[in-house]
Amino acid sequence: MTAPASEHIRFAADRMLGRLARWLRVIGQDVIYGRHLSGYGLIHAARAENRLILTRDRGLKQKQPPKFIFIDSDDYREQLRQVIRECGLRAGDTLFSRCLECNAVLQARSKESVETLVPPYVFASQEKFFWCPHCRRVYWPATHHQKMVEELRIIGVL
Ligand SMILES: [Zn+2]
Repeated sequence: MTAPASEHIRFAADRMLGRLARWLRVIGQDVIYGRHLSGYGLIHAARAENRLILTRDRGLKQKQPPKFIFIDSDDYREQLRQVIRECGLRAGDTLFSRCLECNAVLQARSKESVETLVPPYVFASQEKFFWCPHCRRVYWPATHHQKMVEELRIIGVL
């Protein structure tokens, strides 16, 4: 099996693009995002980890940045469409594989091992669990996943 090219792109999103960063993580993309990521901070972080910059900052190009995509729209849905289109990403391939809070790749956890970590009704009703090895948040495919899938379909990227 050959890995899709999109697996190799890593992103650094400027601090104006929080919603886009989160949606890119929903579809499994590696994207760093934070309040320190603007201007030279963004450029430095992108260079350090060889990341493609996503920015709404028109002044950035005067600061000699590495490769970047200027995001045209204010609307996160159009932003997501733009990044997927320009980078040739396939949104369905790696859906829900990454922590939405801290960007780490999620790992599967056995049901027994999360008994004390999730609410009892979740433990009783769910069979598959994942967790983030970095922030230790536990994830399970439930209704919020379904809602995100529906939203991605409405946006037109799934
Ligand atoms: Zn995490």
